[in-house]
Amino acid sequence: MAIDVRVVQAYRFALDLTPRQERAVLSHAGAGRVAYNWALARVKAVIQQRAAERSYGIAESGLTPMIGWSLPALRRAWNAAKREVAPWWAECSKEAFNTGLDALARGLKSWSDSRTGKRAGRRVGFPGFKSRRRSTPSVRFTTGAIRVEPDRKHVVLPRLGRLKLHESARKLARRLEAGTARIMSATVRRDAGRWHVAFTVEVDRVERTLARPHAVLGVDVGVKHLAVLSTGTLLPNPRHLEDAARRVRRLARRLSRRVGPDRRSGRQPSRRWERARRQLARAHARVANLRRDGLHKLTTRLASEYGTIVVEDLNVAGMLRNRRLARRIADAGFGELRRQLAYKTKWNGGHLVVADRWYPSSKTCSACGTVKAKLALSERTFTCITCGMVLDRDVNAARNLAALACEATTAGSGPVAGRGADRKTRPGGPVAVKRQPGTAQAGKTGTVPQGGTADYMLTRAN
Ligand SMILES: [Zn+2]
Repeated sequence: MAIDVRVVQAYRFALDLTPRQERAVLSHAGAGRVAYNWALARVKAVIQQRAAERSYGIAESGLTPMIGWSLPALRRAWNAAKREVAPWWAECSKEAFNTGLDALARGLKSWSDSRTGKRAGRRVGFPGFKSRRRSTPSVRFTTGAIRVEPDRKHVVLPRLGRLKLHESARKLARRLEAGTARIMSATVRRDAGRWHVAFTVEVDRVERTLARPHAVLGVDVGVKHLAVLSTGTLLPNPRHLEDAARRVRRLARRLSRRVGPDRRSGRQPSRRWERARRQLARAHARVANLRRDGLHKLTTRLASEYGTIVVEDLNVAGMLRNRRLARRIADAGFGELRRQLAYKTKWNGGHLVVADRWYPSSKTCSACGTVKAKLALSERTFTCITCGMVLDRDVNAARNLAALACEATTAGSGPVAGRGADRKTRPGGPVAVKRQPGTAQAGKTGTVPQGGTADYMLTRAN
């Protein structure tokens, strides 16, 4: 069998832990937190010490030496101190401490990259201490016995032993047995009250041939629909999503009526508030799962068919501040759609074009190119006053996106993006290959690269 692409992929399964196993995972997660908080305190203390020394006029060379922020450096510091800081250290796997130290190394790197402009996107704050109550318990294993049992219903992890899966791991097991996958790490974590194990796996994939390698498709994410295609197809939201969203709204109202914590008065939350909060978190997770599942089915299908797929580069972080639930779900789905398409198009030998954030895909008439000055979000139908075209708002936007890629690939003028809504002619511009924030190799600090999405083209205004 020919191997065309080697990719890093995640397989995630729900777990059924026994109370004893749950305690073991929690104590490992706690150990990771202790290492994280200890190392963070050390880093901060050294920074403060050096600042104080500088204020006394001590020369740079005479200052207390900085401690390294890389994972190996933090690990060395921890290993030198663990007997004193955590005399119980031998009770937990070294991987537990490594999980915490790795998280800190990444956090420090993100902060410094963000400060020096190496990292795009929103400013990243300096890492803060982790609290037992507020952090998500997790532990990651990178070495030792990590395997899926032949029955495909159990996994074996170092120290934790044999854990029962809530669902079959056959998809991963098949690949492991065929020798086309190697497990690089396994992370056990609790998401919204439910335990999962996520395997980071290096997979040899056979590159598929596209059904329509030269076809271009524009995809727009809708509020009422899961997605809208430039072919005019409106894809409905997954079944039960509406019900799940309604449940979120109801639980959010209920939570607001309970007695929550208050920092100023030091008031503790009531038990009923805690319960309502857990229920709301689970409901939110269900909405996200339904949506993600629907998007996975969609993106798998699209990426195996079209040679070029165009989506918009929206300011997802900014949009997520919108308080309307439906809007927020759609926006979150947008980020997910782009992420999935980025790697799935790469697996299939196609490519993803991301239109510039300022390209007025909604405001432009897909028939004659007239750009409207204004288009309210409530206007669900696009009516062109120049040529009289009437079309669903999202289909119109999707068609414009598809047209953008056609120009990018056929004409020598390059792809296009008008800045601002009053631009009627389309200026030419170069096609830039850009690495998006979050897709950069994270392997610098850790032992395992994470979130390995692909590079993709970005159409840019000049
Ligand atoms: Zn028109």
